[in-house]
Amino acid sequence: MTQDDVLELFKKSGALLEGHFRLTSGLHSDRYLQCALVLQHPQQAAVLGAALAARLRELDSTADFVIAPALGGILVAHEVARNIGVRGLFAERQDRVLTLRRGFRIEPGERGYVVEDVVTTGGSTRETMDVVEQAGGIVIAAGSLIDRSGGKVDLGTPRVALAVLDVPTFTPEECPLCKAGSQAVKPGSR
Ligand code: ZN
Repeated sequence: MTQDDVLELFKKSGALLEGHFRLTSGLHSDRYLQCALVLQHPQQAAVLGAALAARLRELDSTADFVIAPALGGILVAHEVARNIGVRGLFAERQDRVLTLRRGFRIEPGERGYVVEDVVTTGGSTRETMDVVEQAGGIVIAAGSLIDRSGGKVDLGTPRVALAVLDVPTFTPEECPLCKAGSQAVKPGSR
């Protein structure tokens, strides 16, 4: 699956919008990403999961499990794990800290991939890597459907993304789209 194929799938399901958006942060952007809209179609989730599993296996094929931070990464971990035939886990926040709950266990020495839907700053992937390491597990690679950092995030582990985007954001005062006279809209309000 090429980057264009991936982005085409996202656009088709409205998961990647192009226009002039006011994000929840108040910043403006010419693109808006909502992975849940592509993953709501199980067949698309399966196709993307298979593609990410293949890329991860090229880096290291010895995974015993796949883990993601909840909620955004859960479906991605599930589909990648299904493809490889290993466990798909997720870490969730308890008192703001990502933790393994629900009886999920990582045994010392077990090897795993940490996956996400989107990497922006890499913060939640990094936190999930900590969860694995605290349990005595080994992170062998990280993956995401989309890397919207333009490839800049360094997680200290081999990393793949099905598509790399560089999505600049602007304050309303600096926004070139506002300067050109168009109105920013809240995503999903159309
Ligand atoms: Zn604007």
